[in-house]
Amino acid sequence: MYCSKCGKEIDNDAVVCVHCGCQIKPLLSIKEKNWLVTLILCLCFGGIGAHRFYTGYIGLGILQIITFGGFGIWWLIDLIMILCRSYKTKDGEYLV
Ligand SMILES: [Zn+2]
Repeated sequence: MYCSKCGKEIDNDAVVCVHCGCQIKPLLSIKEKNWLVTLILCLCFGGIGAHRFYTGYIGLGILQIITFGGFGIWWLIDLIMILCRSYKTKDGEYLV
């Protein structure tokens, strides 16, 4: 990844940019959602949109409760997307 302040390449796990010394992670790490937790939530409670609530999609989560996970189809698509790691949170972040 790249530093948002100076634009130089930095380590993905870096907390502070080694080039300009600014902090990088604090805001991102709050938004970060665990991939395994999302997968387990989707597997066990996917029908009621638990993984949607976890990743910030409150409206979609409620919709999934009403439709029982889009009658299983939506649930299956979400599950495949999570397994393929193409699933993103509401903030557009990939799961970690
Ligand atoms: Zn920097």
